[in-house]
Amino acid sequence: MNAKKSILIVDDSQEIHDLLGAILENEGFGAIHHATSGEEAIKLLGINDPDKHNLDVDIILMDIVMPGIDGIETLRAIKARERYRDVPVVMVTRLAEVDYLKKAFESGAIDYIVKPADEVEFVTRVRSFLRLKSEMDLRRAREAELLETTMKLRKANATLERLSYIDSLTGVGNRRYFDELYLKEWKRARREESSLALMIFDIDFFKSYNDFYGHQAGDFCLARIAGAIAASLKRPVDFVARYGGEEFVLVLPHTDLDGGRIVAGNVMKAVHDLKLNHGTSMVGDRVTVSAGLAAMIPGRDDDPDALIHAADAALYRAKDSGRNCLEVASP
Ligand code: GH3
Ligand code: MG
Ligand code: MG
Repeated sequence: MNAKKSILIVDDSQEIHDLLGAILENEGFGAIHHATSGEEAIKLLGINDPDKHNLDVDIILMDIVMPGIDGIETLRAIKARERYRDVPVVMVTRLAEVDYLKKAFESGAIDYIVKPADEVEFVTRVRSFLRLKSEMDLRRAREAELLETTMKLRKANATLERLSYIDSLTGVGNRRYFDELYLKEWKRARREESSLALMIFDIDFFKSYNDFYGHQAGDFCLARIAGAIAASLKRPVDFVARYGGEEFVLVLPHTDLDGGRIVAGNVMKAVHDLKLNHGTSMVGDRVTVSAGLAAMIPGRDDDPDALIHAADAALYRAKDSGRNCLEVASP
């Protein structure tokens, strides 16, 4: 791994350059760059010139005491640049300069080596700094990759959710499906000046069904009822959606109240024919539904919600008048 590693030595003593350079070359390190002053290092790294092609270095060996800009100042200037923030800077110092080390660490130095250095120790330490640097780079790259994957997943999930129109429990359309399609059908009916019928079905005494048979049986019952409603629809433009917990909404384009009554009858028969036992129902021994029906030819100034409210009010009356029946909104 040494071959590709690039090292910058900053020292005012030519002797040190020769010594360190020879050791590093012997060890097969890659490019070795030399700067004999802080100024030269700053110029070489392009610190004050953002347009200049910056030097790629993996580690910097920095003398502390130098004429002009000293090692500490040079270190600070380097660390102020984002792109050099992760490059380890090792101070190369004499014992007498130990007082400076505190300042060096505060300014971002990673460690120090005492000179004249013991050859083996010196090379070993430089090598371990280089390894640290590659591991850091690798981790950064992995983190960036992971972040990208996470963002992609998040986007995909949002798209999937947006695209999902199916209620997972019952397999019929979900509330979003209803909201979008109903508005389209409303506008179409207004354009064509044709009657649009809407029906809401609500399972009778379903809370006590859940309490008695358990929530799982309740889920199963919901799915069966949804299936029965969907199977009762004959025209391709008719559609059913799960409106709320145990409520289903039917939209019947080109249909008036009489047509709606027929469909309601078919649905209630289909539900009856499921023969789902309901031991705690107050209206019989099978699962039943109540229904509210409304229909209208939408006018310019009509609110699409008006038809839903009318069907809902009719359903309320069906519940009030004993359940297991259809109530129709007055036209
Ligand atoms: P009513 O005859 O007046 O409609 O009485 P009800 O008990 O059916 O009505 P209520 O609104 O009091 O209770 C509705 C119940 O439907 C509450 C809840 O236990 C059940 N429910 C709603 N969503 C689900 C569901 O996804 N799964 C199951 N198992 N039960 C549900
Ligand atoms: Mg309800
Ligand atoms: Mg109910």
